[in-house]
Amino acid sequence: MEHPPEPLARLITAVRLAGANPAAGPPDHSELLLDPLALRRWVEQQCAGVRRVRVAGTLDRRLVFVECGEGRWVVADLSGQPHDSRAWPAWARDTVVLDEPASWLSLADVHEPGVDRLSRPGVLLAALYHPETFPLPRFPLGISTVARAARETLLGTVTLADMQLGLTLDGLVARVEADRPDVLGVSATFGQYDLLIQLLESIYAQNDLPLIVVGGSLAARVERVLLDRFPALLVARAGGEATISALLAHWHGDRTLDEVPGLGFIGAPRGGGLTVGRRRTAKPVTRDVTADVVPELDLRPATFDHHGVAQLETSRGCTSYCSFCPRDHKGSWAGAGTGQLPWLLGELAAVFDRYPQVSRTLYLVDEEFLGRGPDAPGRALRLAGLLRGAGFGWESSCRVDQVVDPGRDLGWHVERAEMWRMLVAWGLRRMLFGVESGVDSVLDRFAKGTTGEQNVLAVRTLSTLGVPTRFTYITFDPLMTLDELKATHAFQGRTDLLLAPRPDLPAAEVARGVRDSSFVATASVGRPFYQGISYLLVGMECLIGAAYTRQVQHAGLAGAVTPSMGRVEARYADWRIGAVAGWAQRWVDRHFALDYTFKSLEKVLDGDPRRQVREARSVLKDASYTVLGDLIIEVDAQPLCHDPAAEATLDARIWQQVEKRLTLLRGELATTVHDLLPALDREHAELLTVEYRRWSAASGWTLINAADSCAS
Ligand code: SF4
Repeated sequence: MEHPPEPLARLITAVRLAGANPAAGPPDHSELLLDPLALRRWVEQQCAGVRRVRVAGTLDRRLVFVECGEGRWVVADLSGQPHDSRAWPAWARDTVVLDEPASWLSLADVHEPGVDRLSRPGVLLAALYHPETFPLPRFPLGISTVARAARETLLGTVTLADMQLGLTLDGLVARVEADRPDVLGVSATFGQYDLLIQLLESIYAQNDLPLIVVGGSLAARVERVLLDRFPALLVARAGGEATISALLAHWHGDRTLDEVPGLGFIGAPRGGGLTVGRRRTAKPVTRDVTADVVPELDLRPATFDHHGVAQLETSRGCTSYCSFCPRDHKGSWAGAGTGQLPWLLGELAAVFDRYPQVSRTLYLVDEEFLGRGPDAPGRALRLAGLLRGAGFGWESSCRVDQVVDPGRDLGWHVERAEMWRMLVAWGLRRMLFGVESGVDSVLDRFAKGTTGEQNVLAVRTLSTLGVPTRFTYITFDPLMTLDELKATHAFQGRTDLLLAPRPDLPAAEVARGVRDSSFVATASVGRPFYQGISYLLVGMECLIGAAYTRQVQHAGLAGAVTPSMGRVEARYADWRIGAVAGWAQRWVDRHFALDYTFKSLEKVLDGDPRRQVREARSVLKDASYTVLGDLIIEVDAQPLCHDPAAEATLDARIWQQVEKRLTLLRGELATTVHDLLPALDREHAELLTVEYRRWSAASGWTLINAADSCAS
């Protein structure tokens, strides 16, 4: 007979000590430990519903309380670590009195105020989702790390709801109405403003309101708009972990809202009355930057059931301050601790084991994976070693200057080249680099801290080393000139950046070769650079709070605020480029869901099917690059003077061009998808078929989220 894993063996011992006699082992060992509510229900069943049960703590140290007599409880730390090794909260010192603190299992007096703390508040953490925009889910890292922080307090219960996993907005509203949580936390990101507003309006229309806190990248950007509309709302401005812990203490009256870090809210005036509240931000977050970033894994199995991908973070913040990237809520780069990583990887591996068809790949959603400092390469290699040891491939993001830095000598570049090769050997599947432009004047405007030549050398180095890459590139920005747009198009089409991999070439030869024109001429594979760009025709998003947005405002080009994307609308200094950028965005949006499906399939597949999906994406990229060239020709033929007739003329000519390209693309993609489907398993093939049909049936050129504006 197979023995249950140790935590479950401990659980059964604890239940027996409480006087119950578990008839059989738990139904699904691994899921029971992942989900505290399921764990509590199972224990309650074993106790025939006559004993009170509470489950607290995080996945690595689940704490089970089973009542066994008047005021007497069995308390079990399922990790097997002694109770006195836990950092118990202050309230527990008087309310949970353990007989055997040096053991993982103890009888205890748990006083009613302690039981109350273990029971309330009921917290529901919800993540929003637009399935028509993002067909495949990603593990909800935000609410899962916040759940861990909440559970660390041992206060109340925490459940998670993710709209990616089949829950509709109406379903979420109904769940709030049925569950009546004391605290509702909502995570909202760009593009989800409409969902957020609908949800908040529905919840605030209910009686018996929970404390509602909204977090995520969108909430931080549109705090003012949200608080004006929902004065009782709380807005978490930073990562959310410190905020939720303090908010739970606030719920029990241990803290005032002013003492909750990173919280924006409207403070009620003293003495009540009709005075308009003042928008307040409580104390800043003082985050332990070396703390591990560890999520709870309640939703991991369901994410896989919905073909989702696994995400983790190994650092937060960035080493730079690009002008288009608002930094206030993100902060400077700090590597998270790795102490918990081996345990976490083991837990993840156990979940992956149940889904053998899912690629064992982790997506490290760090803004900048490497960071600065002399130990940056060592840290990266240690992380890669841990991931490799647990049998995972991985992907992440980092800056180009982690590959080529004009301020560094040959020795530094050789060391970096060796590091990149080692990272690939140890499971790096792909690294995303934010190139953003190949044109120096544009890079200056973006405050990227890089040059076009540096980008050229970095792309050559990475391709020669055989590092699988993705690049991001901002093709249009409102302040750009036509010459810059032409230079951008030329840069994207260069065939001397992506070079043939040379696995045996010594690192020093690589560092020298990429600067040598004859080496480059020999090594070029004729593949244009745009094939390495993730989304080709994207334009600058003028995000609220970004330095670039202020440049646009100073130039008198700023327009309405668009809360759905946390951004400010902007006109283009050259109206013709604005017209092209608008049509390019329509082009991107027309293909977005299909392209995203290709990209998501690529993430969960390995081997030949993955290669074929990449080739399918390249058909879209070829078409996008060709469209850009067509549109630049149209702009060149259009005089700069601007009036409605000129605008209508250019618009009509652009429309003809994109329609012509779309007709060609339809034919090419029909063949591509037809050839690709047999290479996929049934579920992935069905998913692609649905998205392809949706794409084929689409007509018109609408923008995603075009309907959201400040006025909504
Ligand atoms: S755009 Fe990328 S590199 Fe620049 S500040 Fe933001 S995260 Fe850092």
